[in-house]
Amino acid sequence: MSQFVQNFINGVAVESQSQRITSVFNPATGEETKKVKLSTATEVDSAIAAADAAFKSWSQQSPLRRARILFKFKELLEANFDELARLISSEHGKVYSDAIGELTRGLEVVEFATGIPHLQKGEFSANAGRGIDIHSIQQPLGVVAGITPFNFPAMVPMWMFPVALACGNTFVLKPSEKDPSVSIRLAELLKDAGLPDGVFNVVQGDKEAVDILLTDPRIQAVSFVGSTPIAHYIYEKGSANGKRVQALGGAKNHALIMPDADVQGTVNALLGAAFGAAGERCMALSVAVIVGDELADKIVEELTPRVKALKIGAGLLPEGETENDMGPVISKEHKAKIESYIDQGVEQGAKLCVDGRGYKVAGHENGYFVGGTLFDNVTPEMTIWKDEIFGPVLSVVRVKDYAEGMVIINSHQYGNGSAIFTADGDSARQFTQDVQAGMVGVNIPIPVPMAFHCFGGWKASIFGPLNVYGQDGVRFYTRMKTITTRWPDSVVRSQAAFNFPTL
Ligand code: NAD
Repeated sequence: MSQFVQNFINGVAVESQSQRITSVFNPATGEETKKVKLSTATEVDSAIAAADAAFKSWSQQSPLRRARILFKFKELLEANFDELARLISSEHGKVYSDAIGELTRGLEVVEFATGIPHLQKGEFSANAGRGIDIHSIQQPLGVVAGITPFNFPAMVPMWMFPVALACGNTFVLKPSEKDPSVSIRLAELLKDAGLPDGVFNVVQGDKEAVDILLTDPRIQAVSFVGSTPIAHYIYEKGSANGKRVQALGGAKNHALIMPDADVQGTVNALLGAAFGAAGERCMALSVAVIVGDELADKIVEELTPRVKALKIGAGLLPEGETENDMGPVISKEHKAKIESYIDQGVEQGAKLCVDGRGYKVAGHENGYFVGGTLFDNVTPEMTIWKDEIFGPVLSVVRVKDYAEGMVIINSHQYGNGSAIFTADGDSARQFTQDVQAGMVGVNIPIPVPMAFHCFGGWKASIFGPLNVYGQDGVRFYTRMKTITTRWPDSVVRSQAAFNFPTL
């Protein structure tokens, strides 16, 4: 019988008593490897209660002490990278080096959060008025929740909890039920690093658990990352219940390729950014908008054999074998969905240059593989342009000039990331001004900001005003309090004043 993935509540890994059970699969083989019990309302309640009880003491620890626990956690993460990467790959399917990359980007947020004594120290104005000083403090909110997607089962939780905990909050994480195991290892490592029981809790579950997190009055804030319809739901429901919400949604990232772009460099960048992680990245580049038919012909000609030659297979291989370029997609259903998008692209008149449907990997016949797919002559009327496919499908849109390309890019519902490939500084500068996206690359295909900046898109890629991690993370997980002080010697005792006070 498959092993059950546990919850982690009040410092202890515990098995849920739920009768609602789902399966975790190895996407490379199609085999069920574990089961997940979708937590009951009572179990979610006990996680919130543990976090609530732990808040008083944790929030009163000095930021330096909280930072030291995170330092220790960072060391433990590094020491366990190999085990964690294998766990991610076995449930998500991504190749080992990509799982190491995900862990590294998560670790960088932990490193950022260890600077909390500096980040949270507030502001001070001496002598703002005669004998009057003003200072501000950023206090933690209380219990906060994180709801995370399947595609980065370690990194996205680590976009959230290191900053939240560093600020003095306690946390309840509801990871994706598709690849939930790594969240429990992270909870165990936090405990090993010295985190007090109850400060970080994990509940496995689905909509039922999420709805409790969105409505329970003890939860002060909710961070969500996932698809746009669910992000919108989380934002509306969480806000309606008085919570602070940041909800990051889906994406369709465009690259604008100018006639002076370096062809080889651009082709290499497109390959990695469109097909890495089988296109299951919210910052994947899935649309190449190419200026001029001559350049488009050249790029499509270069791309076609290289997309056909992508090395596709299991994310984890026996020692000594060369790693694959990309692994399987997450599930049988998702594979079918991606293939149906490819069907629609063909039906709606796009030119299919490389067809990834029906892709088989020898020895992994039941794995959820989709081959690299390349479409040319895609237009904004087509479903494959409008929708997020979240698979290894790259669409080429041909335009006559910069202006036409910009109109197409900015008319898309999503605005997560975007990039320009050019050798011309003026075009690049204009692009960074004009493009309606939250994260922009100049000759950089996946411009995911480092941990000391902030991550977030525009338009339907985000709901709520604050991005994740960086200074926005600190703002999101704290409440500002501004204190105006004077002491008796400077108090003017003359008479009561009834006008609005000015300094
Ligand atoms: P998803 O929206 O299906 O699930 C995300 C989380 O929401 C999971 O924990 C899931 O259990 C929960 N959930 C699912 N249905 C729900 C419902 N009806 N009510 C309440 N909760 C529900 O997303 P996914 O398939 O796991 O992840 C892929 C999506 O995430 C893509 O759209 C991708 O672009 C997006 N994503 C965005 C970013 C970003 O930074 N903008 C980063 C990573 C992934």
